[in-house]
Amino acid sequence: MTRYWSPVVHGLTPYVPGEQPKVARLVKLNTNENPYGPSPKALEAIRAATDATLRLYPDPNSEALKAALAERHGLRPEQVFVGNGSDEVLAHAFLALLNHERPLWFPDITYSFYPVYCGLYGIASHLVPLADDFSLRTEDYLPGPAGQAGAIIFPNPNAPTGRHLPLQEVERIVAGNPEAVVVVDEAYIDFGGKSALPLVDRYPNLLVVQTFSKSRALAGLRVGFAAGHPDLIEALERVKNSFNSYPLDRLALAGAVASLADDAHFQTTRHKVMATREVLVAQLAALGFSSVPSTANFIFVTHPKHRAGDLAKALRERSIIVRHFDKPRISEYLRITIGTDEQCQALVAALSEIMGS
Ligand code: PMP
Repeated sequence: MTRYWSPVVHGLTPYVPGEQPKVARLVKLNTNENPYGPSPKALEAIRAATDATLRLYPDPNSEALKAALAERHGLRPEQVFVGNGSDEVLAHAFLALLNHERPLWFPDITYSFYPVYCGLYGIASHLVPLADDFSLRTEDYLPGPAGQAGAIIFPNPNAPTGRHLPLQEVERIVAGNPEAVVVVDEAYIDFGGKSALPLVDRYPNLLVVQTFSKSRALAGLRVGFAAGHPDLIEALERVKNSFNSYPLDRLALAGAVASLADDAHFQTTRHKVMATREVLVAQLAALGFSSVPSTANFIFVTHPKHRAGDLAKALRERSIIVRHFDKPRISEYLRITIGTDEQCQALVAALSEIMGS
């Protein structure tokens, strides 16, 4: 009975998340989850919070988490916004900060949720092509003959390429667009990139978004945050308080605060992921793959002789799932999440068998 749908719903093209199959003994390298699991202290805090106080609403302002984030990143709590995963934080940013008369600019190859939010909120967008090597050219984002952006968003490192934009280039984009909000989506920043968080104090048009899903291995808890000038944060709070007063539940708040306090687990696991990434890149190079330089917990690889779609299919037959986007410019690439050493060895063994046969 789609005739009951609103016109907006008729016009939507929703985001398609990577699948979560219920298959035993699967090597799941398709959604950039962290193979090492969250801090045991976060799990303990979640267990401790699982009691009769769940009858009470959580703190609508998530003050303990904002304070912990502010302390960790050298910010003031009024510079911090938290949400139910960074997807929700981004959604609020699109509505609150990125919807202007001039279009929103973002790369042609990027996180595929951005065009979805544009569709949801009716935001005009302008795709800026990445260079042939998938690097983002700073000049393309500065006001010039092509006009200027109403607002700008890009992930750093970019998704699904994993390529990192050096901090001084990020700063050039932010400084060169004083009239536009620039959102830097740092979902994967903790795997070797340099965060723009230290710039937040100096640029009132910069919003940095991060997540607990990747480097803190809490994708299932749904916690993300943004940092920026208090006026930008106020805009996000206005949208949040017009949408859902309690986006972070009691368990999420307890787990996220405890995760931040366990720096040892955070450091060990992110360094393990980075070390495994370098080994995997070298092993795949030996099989003839080339990889886009990655500072993320995934790599983006292509092979001169084997079709990416065929490889993804053959891997799936061996219970190994990677992500293949059948889209212009990237249809010959596979995005592979960095798993444990064992999972990556299983992948390499399967690929050499597939390509040798
Ligand atoms: N930004 C980018 C670039 C991503 O790849 C993802 C993960 N799909 C997110 C944001 C959202 O992550 P989450 O909602 O789990 O914080």
